[in-house]
Amino acid sequence: MRQPLFYPHGARIAVLTQEVVGVLDYLAPEGGVRLGQLVVVPLGPRRVMGAVWGPGMGDFDMAKLRPVARLVEAPPLTPEMIEFLTRMGEYTLTPLPMMLRMATRAPDLDQPPAARRIIHRAGPPPERMTDARAAVLRVIEDHGGAGFAPGELAQLAGVSGGVVQGLVKAGTLAEVRAPRDLPFPRLDPDLPGKPLAPDQADAAALLRQAVQGRTYGTTLLRGVTGSGKTEVYLEAVAECLRQGRQALVLLPEIALSAEFLNRVETRFGARPGEWHSGITRTERRRLWMMAAENHVGMVVGARSALFLPFADLGLIVVDEEHDSSYKQEDMVYYSARDMAVLRASIGQAQVVLASATPSVESWVNAASGKYARLDLRARYGTAELPEMGTIDLRAEEMEKGRWISPTLAREIRERQARGEQSLLFLNRRGYAPITACRACGQQIGCDQCDARMVEHRFQNRLVCHQCGATKPIPTACPSCGVEGKMTAIGPGVERLAEEVAERFPEARASVLSSDLFHSARALKEAIATISAGETDIIIGTQLVAKGHNFPRLTLVGVIDADLGLQGADLRAAERSFQLMRQVAGRAGREGGEARGLALLQTHQPEHPVIRAILSGQDEEFWDAEAAQRQAVGMPPFGRLAGIILSHPDQPVVEDYSRELVRRAGPLEEIGAEVWGPAPAPIARIRGRYRVRILIRSARQAPVQLAIADWLRLAPKPPTNLRLAVDIDPQSF
Ligand code: ADP
Ligand code: ZN
Repeated sequence: MRQPLFYPHGARIAVLTQEVVGVLDYLAPEGGVRLGQLVVVPLGPRRVMGAVWGPGMGDFDMAKLRPVARLVEAPPLTPEMIEFLTRMGEYTLTPLPMMLRMATRAPDLDQPPAARRIIHRAGPPPERMTDARAAVLRVIEDHGGAGFAPGELAQLAGVSGGVVQGLVKAGTLAEVRAPRDLPFPRLDPDLPGKPLAPDQADAAALLRQAVQGRTYGTTLLRGVTGSGKTEVYLEAVAECLRQGRQALVLLPEIALSAEFLNRVETRFGARPGEWHSGITRTERRRLWMMAAENHVGMVVGARSALFLPFADLGLIVVDEEHDSSYKQEDMVYYSARDMAVLRASIGQAQVVLASATPSVESWVNAASGKYARLDLRARYGTAELPEMGTIDLRAEEMEKGRWISPTLAREIRERQARGEQSLLFLNRRGYAPITACRACGQQIGCDQCDARMVEHRFQNRLVCHQCGATKPIPTACPSCGVEGKMTAIGPGVERLAEEVAERFPEARASVLSSDLFHSARALKEAIATISAGETDIIIGTQLVAKGHNFPRLTLVGVIDADLGLQGADLRAAERSFQLMRQVAGRAGREGGEARGLALLQTHQPEHPVIRAILSGQDEEFWDAEAAQRQAVGMPPFGRLAGIILSHPDQPVVEDYSRELVRRAGPLEEIGAEVWGPAPAPIARIRGRYRVRILIRSARQAPVQLAIADWLRLAPKPPTNLRLAVDIDPQSF
């Protein structure tokens, strides 16, 4: 971006409000304004926040411009940030105000940074402990001892302000007058790290060199689970810190990162900044400010951390880069992995994509040389990869209503006898996926969505996994009225837990499923219990597939390996492969005597995905997947965009979508194909009917421009119609 950064007269200002698409001209205050400066401007009768986006257009009548109301006392957005938001907005077809909102998601940015009272941890626990006091201390501990505004702390703990003050008097907490935004403690990159194994050291050296170059580059860091990828990319972080630049590590399941934060603290002597939905407002603002002032060296965060206003971001690590939670499909549709690459390319930063099971996209980019690639081929130390096998369910004598085969049960018993842990993996929350009437066959669905209601026995309700609606489990069929014929069909983790309790009554079992934990804290405690070896059998959904080290876990049983294999989605094979490989990787992480074993229960042991997992020939699998996509021109070889339209009235959304497709001239001009309209992958959510139009084009075609033209020329949409553009949709 080559333009002056200071505007003495008029300025174009991107305004943070829904109604304005784009930017407006305002008169600069005396003394001018800088590019990126946050300001408050008048808009009609209101005052709204905005950011200086460029010089005024020049041909306006200065006398008619409204002046900027005031400057916001926050660091201006950098030119890189402005370019990033602009280009991401163009790529994802997101209006500028919405992009700006993503970059200013910190509370009270327009409040002055005056000193204020902050509570933090001080001395030992008080002599007199009460429930209320304990609640306050728990909140402090959950947030890593971070600073709180006094009112905020009381509110989070659900106690009165007096309780907090009591703890201050007792000396357990301290109250200080401090700048509202305290700098983060410095991380020391030169503390000795773990001595690296030779292949780790080689990979770390190459990443260090890349970071030293202070230019853009992306590296796919591939290595089986437990190969020590984290240790390697922490060395890249160390180098980035030495350069005086900032590093961002994105994680998919940030709530589960206590172990990760401890590792960072061990390596660098202090904790990094944390950015996710669980941090307090005080911390959110502090991190935003400190990122902008280069007073936080390393941030660990969920995908939205990508929009923090780093002053000098030198490295972005995307851990578990294949994880689907990096794709946001709400408000702004974007892939944090892809946008990390965009941001880094604008800011001369390095990207490390780490995974044991990369996405086909990243695999292809590494194969074509667009990304560099580093491989760690073995597990660190003595730990070996688990042995893999299938259990052919066609040959097993399965009892009715049982899901653990005799062979798997035998293996579990052996582990139990040796004091080792077993993990049973079933990616289905609740008790049973289907509740149906045995008299008429009717299945119970959600009233608002195109989805079955799932029985959750612990809650004693039926739950819709799309919209969260619940209803009581009926005794009579809502369709035919016959009493006592409602029956649960198929297994969920709760039902599996019931079978475990019946068949292994002496075993200590624990169910890990996201809906069973009401707080991140409860989940952390459950995981700590398992890590301490106080559980024999773990029953889990995909929550257990990621990141945890359970030292005594030596057996993984995949209850239904066929679950993800069906379906028309071209990504189904890739997803199943990733998930099963990850889950299997939980076994035998720590080495020791017993090698891990992973067993897949399946009706189709000859299926290519199952065979690829067994053979360990991952590269062949990805090459085959890539070849298939290439043959049909699908991503990453061709480009896809989805247009999702929804309306409470089915004919309305269908008619309008058909009309759109009829007028697809601008798309045809760039040689794009238009498919649909067809029911969206979930055809109804919360009472809105959803239709999808898919657009496929060549990789290089200017598809965003064509879509923008097409939608601009489209007939006026009916009231209450919603339209979202999803560039690079997850399912196709
Ligand atoms: P990955 O990220 O590839 O799954 P990790 O970095 O988590 O692997 O490493 C797996 C385990 O091996 C961890 O417990 C880690 O502490 C340990 N480990 C990895 N590299 C080393 C090393 N160089 N020295 C000591 N322990 C290591
Ligand atoms: Zn629903």
